[in-house]
Amino acid sequence: MTPRLTVPDAAAVGRRHPETLRKALQDGTLHGTQRIKRGPWLIRPECLAAWLEGEQCAHQVAEAAAGVVTDIATRRAVHASV
Ligand SMILES: [Zn+2]
Repeated sequence: MTPRLTVPDAAAVGRRHPETLRKALQDGTLHGTQRIKRGPWLIRPECLAAWLEGEQCAHQVAEAAAGVVTDIATRRAVHASV
């Protein structure tokens, strides 16, 4: 399994303020997952890397191609299939 970064980890790696990351996660600019609602965000290193480059990660591109996906279970399924 790919190691996931927490917000503090990602902030340190990306040299961004943790609040900047949280806002990006909430508005969907940065792709991340929460195992429980309002739980800690977990971010894949490749998703963080894409965001730092100002790009969408492969999962977001796949979702955009499949249409708007709002359901979290479907979102995870799309994520797993990439
Ligand atoms: Zn992603």
